[in-house]
Amino acid sequence: MTIPKRQFDTLIIGAGGGGLRAALQLAQADASVAVVSKVFPTRSHTVAAQGGVNAALANVTEDNWHWHMFDTVKGSDYLGDQDSIEYMCRAASRVVYELEHFGVPFSRLDTGKIYQRAFGGQSQNFGGAQATRTCAAADRTGHAILHSLYQQNIRAKTHFFDEYFAIDLISDDKGFILGALVMEIETGEPLLIEAKSTLIATGGAGQLYRTTTNALINTGDGMAMTLRAGIPLQDMEFFQFHPTGIAGRGMLITEGVRGEGGFLVNSDNERFMERYAPNAKDLASRDIVSRAIAIEVREGRGCGPDKDHVLLKIDHLGADVIKKRLPGIRQSSITFVKIDPIYDPIPVYPTAHYTMGGIPTNRYGQIVVPEKESPEVPIPGLYAAGECACVSVHGANRLGGNSLLDILVFGRAAANHIIGYLKENRYHRPLSQESVDKAMQRLTRWDDKSPGESVDEIKNELKKVMEDHCSVFRDKQVLKDGIDKVNVLSDRLTDARLTDHSKIFNTARVEALELENLMDIAKATVVSAHAREESRGAHSRVDFTERDDVHWLKHSLYYLDGQLEYKPVRTKPLTVDTFPPKPRVY
Ligand SMILES: Cc1cc2nc3c(=O)[nH]c(=O)nc-3n(C[C@H](O)[C@H](O)[C@H](O)COP(=O)(O)OP(=O)(O)OC[C@H]3O[C@@H](n4cnc5c(N)ncnc54)[C@H](O)[C@@H]3O)c2cc1C
Repeated sequence: MTIPKRQFDTLIIGAGGGGLRAALQLAQADASVAVVSKVFPTRSHTVAAQGGVNAALANVTEDNWHWHMFDTVKGSDYLGDQDSIEYMCRAASRVVYELEHFGVPFSRLDTGKIYQRAFGGQSQNFGGAQATRTCAAADRTGHAILHSLYQQNIRAKTHFFDEYFAIDLISDDKGFILGALVMEIETGEPLLIEAKSTLIATGGAGQLYRTTTNALINTGDGMAMTLRAGIPLQDMEFFQFHPTGIAGRGMLITEGVRGEGGFLVNSDNERFMERYAPNAKDLASRDIVSRAIAIEVREGRGCGPDKDHVLLKIDHLGADVIKKRLPGIRQSSITFVKIDPIYDPIPVYPTAHYTMGGIPTNRYGQIVVPEKESPEVPIPGLYAAGECACVSVHGANRLGGNSLLDILVFGRAAANHIIGYLKENRYHRPLSQESVDKAMQRLTRWDDKSPGESVDEIKNELKKVMEDHCSVFRDKQVLKDGIDKVNVLSDRLTDARLTDHSKIFNTARVEALELENLMDIAKATVVSAHAREESRGAHSRVDFTERDDVHWLKHSLYYLDGQLEYKPVRTKPLTVDTFPPKPRVY
């Protein structure tokens, strides 16, 4: 079969904030850019971001990037790479002002400056009073950013392949990645997109869990493609559970609610966060608040008939503030649990939210792998940015408001590096037919109409296994059982089929391909979690309750065959002194 081909300077897989920020930079530099997205670009998950983006603009309280850097290093439980963190925090103000110029309608203070709200883990003066650092467009910041970036890309003539699914990366005979095989979802037709450089910006893998804030599209496709290309995934044991998902449903109630003055109570009507984080209280970092809620419920102080959640109170803020600053979360609460938070508290419980681990990159967005001479050797022409990447600015625990910042800063940085790369790599190289055939087999395998188990059942079971075996609290035996169960599911997937044999719908094929990807990510997560015998950030082991900097201040690298390696944390910042590990109190 001859597969149609298109050629571009750069292929970007993913049209969320990371992909679109990179595409804009490249298109404005006159590179020919293809952006492939399995959903229409403005439906990418960035659209769901609510609370805001961090930058030390100092519009509300005194602030500077160095304090932001300190908070991010501390928030990461010292696993974040300090060169990347310095780079991101220094770039933050410029990136936010750029957004303003792209047309993002930020909320305003009475002075006319960009509105900023308090978020968890933010401080002034290296751990002092609460900072107010998160720039917001009401509680729809991601929506505002994504739409503005899309419009700017249309103006810059970025070429979009909307509703195309990337199946796998394509290489030459030497293994250099030169684009991807994609499928047009409407027709099921394959297309080869050849590129001199490729940027993966496919977002996170929140669909690993049953209760999640993430959309159905967040299936870790780019991470799995990278694994199949022989590249390891970094720090996959660190998965963030957001403290305030709507109980039993998972939809997010932004941390901005607590930033505006909302607080959590248990069945005794006690503000229990005062016990767990005497200074920051409800604005302690997310890992700490999530664990506190789980403990309250476990110890019998949960609310509701089943005592399985706590309550988030905001009625004291008044109807005007709620309607002006938090209209989206009010609507979510009314829609999903029929509670108007102007009058009654919202039932909440921790919910799967953010993939801290991902494709290892440096601060130029280059994908890096360990080789004999160095733990981080860049792969020429191959980049990753956004939630699928691990640069690593979030380490073991991401601070709220730092992901939108991450995707914008490193989307832009990757594009700038690609512009230089393209100057030195002007011609397309021949593709390896073997690599194309291999990618095609991944697609055609789902045309097999012989009997087999349903893909949907396996997916539902996988999400339950991950929730039961690799959630807020973990221990050796529970994780070991989790590995065994994921392996059984993985074997079952090899014999699974699309069940409606009269006609195979392309959307069903996409879901099957996504499940294959999720399966590899599940293995990476649970195997890496089983191996890390300490508690750090979001990885909380009941059998190893302390952080162990002597043995575990290092990044994990998981390979497709299940092997793990480790590499050092980049503890040296670019220009300032290192923040050495300290006990983390809020
Ligand atoms: C509900 C919610 C609220 C949040 N609020 C905030 C907040 O207030 N502040 C903050 O900093 N962070 C927030 N976050 C986190 C932040 O929004 C995300 O981490 C970030 O937007 C991810 O952006 P991205 O560009 O990496 O990926 P995404 O926006 O997820 O985009 C991924 C893109 O990849 C494409 N894609 C994936 N796989 C394929 C494939 N196989 N083929 C083709 N295309 C593919 C998708 O179509 C999509 O275009 C929130 C997250 C959630 C879930």
